Amino acid sequence: MKAFSYERVSDPAQAAVRAAEVPGAKFIAGGTNLLDLMKHEIEIPEHLIDVSGTGLDDITPTDEGGLRIGALVSNAALSADARIRKDYAVLSRALVSGASGQLRNKATTGGNLLQRTRCPYFYDTGMPCNKRSPGAGCAALGDGATSRQLGVIGTSEACIATHPSDMAVALRVLDAEVETVTSSGETRRLTLDEFYQLPGDTPEIENALQAGEMVTAVRLPPPVEGRHAYYKVRDRASYAFALVSVALIKAPDGTGRVALGGVAPKPWRRAEADALLPQGASAVMARLLDGARPTHENAYKLTLAERTLAALLAQE
Ligand SMILES: Cc1cc2nc3c(=O)[nH]c(=O)nc-3n(C[C@H](O)[C@H](O)[C@H](O)COP(=O)(O)OP(=O)(O)OC[C@H]3O[C@@H](n4cnc5c(N)ncnc54)[C@H](O)[C@@H]3O)c2cc1C
Ligand code: SF4
Repeated sequence: MKAFSYERVSDPAQAAVRAAEVPGAKFIAGGTNLLDLMKHEIEIPEHLIDVSGTGLDDITPTDEGGLRIGALVSNAALSADARIRKDYAVLSRALVSGASGQLRNKATTGGNLLQRTRCPYFYDTGMPCNKRSPGAGCAALGDGATSRQLGVIGTSEACIATHPSDMAVALRVLDAEVETVTSSGETRRLTLDEFYQLPGDTPEIENALQAGEMVTAVRLPPPVEGRHAYYKVRDRASYAFALVSVALIKAPDGTGRVALGGVAPKPWRRAEADALLPQGASAVMARLLDGARPTHENAYKLTLAERTLAALLAQE
């Protein structure tokens, strides 16, 4: 690990100002992803701004009838909150399917959204990776590469990594918004679709945050009625990232919403595919995964996604 300087801040706006003015600065919250990346020298921040004391650790009702989740609320506290369990069960289920109990105690809402990909070549500094070193090439697309965990849709010639967050998939199906503060003190609200960027030819740019901008909260709209389900398929029963995950909210009349994890660089959802839910899993997936470009090793994800949704729909 390289040497770095460190400061604690108590105010989110002050954090954003400091992050914009100090070269090489990064926020640190729970540290469960950033410290790993620093130890591997994949991320080498010169300065850490500890935001854990900014007081953003409440879940409060909004004027619109939803909830505002502070960026420092832990994944454990969020999944256990009675309002989340009752009215936003898809979110609670997604959270408890992630990481381990110890990690969820430490991991925060903001940090979970901003965790980096788990592409094995991103973690291997001996291999080329456009996300780690722009222009270096992509080892996952090289001859003999292992790509079974990687993306099938929304990917590019430069990068086929997936976003690893389970929480974000549930937030996408709930139409949540990310609230931020910029270094000039403005507050912004972004949908998950606006927040996450597709790789194109700049896979190192993963989100719409400006220099210094800090996530302050996630805003949930009023509860969406219906059956909430989250199913994650993985190599082990726990402590593993999704090969494919499905977040589903289905109303009694058969209409609903579907988002996928483990298949794309962002939680994957299309309104046109939602509209096909009454016609069943095949119709939804044909539209949701239209345009997919799998590798020979991960084409199984297309079938797996459809079968996972079919299994969830059969559980009435
Ligand atoms: C062994 C292991 C297994 C895991 N399994 C899963 C899993 O199955 N599913 C899953 O979803 N996750 C999993 N995770 C990931 C875990 O959920 C994340 O590491 C965690 O959520 C990150 O939160 P944090 O607060 O520790 O973030 P940090 O490590 O502190 O920060 C992560 C990134 O977010 C940035 N950041 C943090 N807070 C803010 C903010 N408020 N505004 C702007 N930027 C910010 C930091 O600068 C950094 O770039 C796993 C992690 C480990 C180590
Ligand atoms: S898929 Fe993306 S993260 Fe993985 S090696 Fe290629 S460029 Fe890097």
